[in-house]
Amino acid sequence: MPEATGSCLCGAVTYRVTGPLRPVIACHCTQCRKTSGHHVAATSAPRDTVAVEGDVRWFAASETARRGFCPICGSNLFWDGPGANLSIFAGTLDGPTGLRLKAHIFCADKGDYYEIADGLPQAAGEDPDFTTQVV
Ligand SMILES: [Zn+2]
Ligand SMILES: [Zn+2]
Repeated sequence: MPEATGSCLCGAVTYRVTGPLRPVIACHCTQCRKTSGHHVAATSAPRDTVAVEGDVRWFAASETARRGFCPICGSNLFWDGPGANLSIFAGTLDGPTGLRLKAHIFCADKGDYYEIADGLPQAAGEDPDFTTQVV
């Protein structure tokens, strides 16, 4: 797997990933909807293979997870929860990524203004197979 890089919109926060990136999972939970303005699409990589540069700010979104964003431009970059992987919001990767969307999670919480119609697997809530798998 080639090294991947990414950044926030303004470039104040950048990161480099040397570990394997998981396929992209779309999360439709209320937190992801509030933080992104729609829903989140995220890959992930082992935490110790992601090097972050810049003043990323962390918001404790729950008892078990925090969300990383740029304090200057507000870009949502990371979801850091239980497990060995750090979730990386796929839109912040420098392209081409070579990744594909694989599944949807927390579909029970999705907004009522859109449909999920791409034929990919949908989980009502969390699905460990989707979220922890590393390619
Ligand atoms: Zn920024
Ligand atoms: Zn979510």
